[in-house]
Amino acid sequence: MQKSVDENNINPGEQLREFIKKLFPADVKNDSFILRIDYLLQADGELRDLVYNSTINYVLRRLIVTADYFKRKCEKENKGNEKFRTDLRAFLKDDMRFPEKHIGRIIVLISECLDKRNADVADSTKHKIRKRARNNNKACYICGGELEFDIGDSYNSVQVEHKWPKAMGGSSDNFNLEVACPKCNCKKSDHIDASDFHYEKICLVSDENDQHFSTEMNREYELALWAKREFKCSICEKSAADAGKLKFGRKNPNDSWHFLNIEIYCEKHHEIRG
Ligand SMILES: [Zn+2]
Ligand SMILES: [Zn+2]
Repeated sequence: MQKSVDENNINPGEQLREFIKKLFPADVKNDSFILRIDYLLQADGELRDLVYNSTINYVLRRLIVTADYFKRKCEKENKGNEKFRTDLRAFLKDDMRFPEKHIGRIIVLISECLDKRNADVADSTKHKIRKRARNNNKACYICGGELEFDIGDSYNSVQVEHKWPKAMGGSSDNFNLEVACPKCNCKKSDHIDASDFHYEKICLVSDENDQHFSTEMNREYELALWAKREFKCSICEKSAADAGKLKFGRKNPNDSWHFLNIEIYCEKHHEIRG
């Protein structure tokens, strides 16, 4: 029997992304326009990685969402799972150009992603996660903001968030759940990592102490920046959930506030850097 892909606490969406990466590895030796731009901007490979990851994420999204579309269509026409698999197989072979030998594995992984996409977090699990976070005095795992555990199930209460997005084949089990504030929860939606945000738009005109800085640096930009260091201080690697609010600083103080020049620090390391 086929083993369930998430038995090692790895989300099916993550497994599918790894599979796509293996089919299309980043070719760091070949000269390409992106490597030349990366060199020009002294990005140390960071720009190349962003473009690569966002392209892989795009392929992943196309696969999962298209399969969901086929599945809904089959359900609407009262056709079974067999028809769905046949349609999906034909699509991957004829309308995309996946090699035939990989299609079986891709269909297994996509099907697992669709199961996760349609599953909800059990109320008992939500309750347990909130309780655990409260007992351990955790902050929002994304921004490090303080959480209001006491206001029940209202809009402002603590949200139980999928670290790997449910829509992209993320599990609704413990290992993939974390507490977040409502502001972060609603902006993160189905973003997988920093490369899924419009990082190329993040170029600010204002400086840190300017009056418009906080307006220009909106929550979506902040989220993208925190995501690039996986919600941790870039020096001590303490997570926002434990360190509290993560702050921003510039790598090159002569340069403006843009995505590649902004670094993420906990309170302590932000102060040390001055
Ligand atoms: Zn937050
Ligand atoms: Zn730190």
